Amino acid sequence: MLVDGYGREVSYLRLSVTDRCNLNCFYCRTGQEMEYIPHENILTYEEMVVLARAARALRVEKLRLTGGEPFARRDFLAFLGLLREQCPELDVRITTNATLLAGKAAAVKHLGIRRINISMDTLDPAKFLEITGRDMLDRVLAAIDECLGLGLRVKINVVAMKGVNDMELPAFVRLACDKPVDVRFIEFMPIGASTRWNDAATWTAREIIAQAGAMVRLTPLERHGRSGGPARLFAIEGGQGRLGVISPLSDHFCTSCNRLRVTSDGRLRTCLFSDKEYRLRPALRHPRLGIDHVVGIMRRALRTKPMGYELLELRRRAQVCDRVMSSIGG
Ligand code: SAM
Repeated sequence: MLVDGYGREVSYLRLSVTDRCNLNCFYCRTGQEMEYIPHENILTYEEMVVLARAARALRVEKLRLTGGEPFARRDFLAFLGLLREQCPELDVRITTNATLLAGKAAAVKHLGIRRINISMDTLDPAKFLEITGRDMLDRVLAAIDECLGLGLRVKINVVAMKGVNDMELPAFVRLACDKPVDVRFIEFMPIGASTRWNDAATWTAREIIAQAGAMVRLTPLERHGRSGGPARLFAIEGGQGRLGVISPLSDHFCTSCNRLRVTSDGRLRTCLFSDKEYRLRPALRHPRLGIDHVVGIMRRALRTKPMGYELLELRRRAQVCDRVMSSIGG
């Protein structure tokens, strides 16, 4: 078991398979011309599989594939097949904007994926275009229905932004009533050097629950220990789905954080809010250094996994880290 310097057990790895994304969400990118990581620096799928095996050797149970947009990387489905073959006991999940998912959900399910997180910040096509730069909301909605039709578990993640999507709370509550999905609002975080985060955009978890509670009857659900994740979930009376909030700012969950992150160029980050990175790529590419060496770096890195909220307070919530979210993976 991987245990960090604060005694937190780490069992969850988020792996960004690419820093490229087909959307251009205003809160995620720099706003300037994006500089992508050169292709030769991106881990190959084979290297990612070695990394997954190293994580598994450390008893990591859950691997979340993210990006950039994972489905935008060529042969992503083949990678899912490789993972299934070589790490069959890993619980692999995907976080996606779902714009490239419609038509592929059956294949994804066939490759052993049971749970998909879909990021969707608005239910209004014009606003979708405004936020993401692309007119693709219909594709996302089609992908959600396709996944649900196949019995996949779908969570919808909404970045909560006052003045941007707070007026859509009734529509999102209706969605959670009408479909068997978890609709989870994530507090907007001040990530990345040119983040558009500002105090006025802060829409806290507490406000969201109070406002939604005035629309429907909400019952808080028990959290299931560490593996339950950071969301606080609520059942909706008469609804098929659930409502949730994730509150990294107003009510942090750093003391139970069980995750590590690896960027698509093979840099291990022990905390979303810390720019300290540990380079795994040289070890993964070295002809004589094997998986044990990678495991050793991960173990050593973990000893210094910080409490993210302390970093947030130190920076007074301004640009808590430099990398843009599309290169970290969320
Ligand atoms: N392309 C994939 C997607 O859209 O889900 C994966 C990558 S995206 C960076 C991962 C998640 O991070 C998305 O749900 C996105 O909305 C969220 N995110 C990005 N910037 C954020 C911020 N500043 N605060 C909170 N969530 C953010």
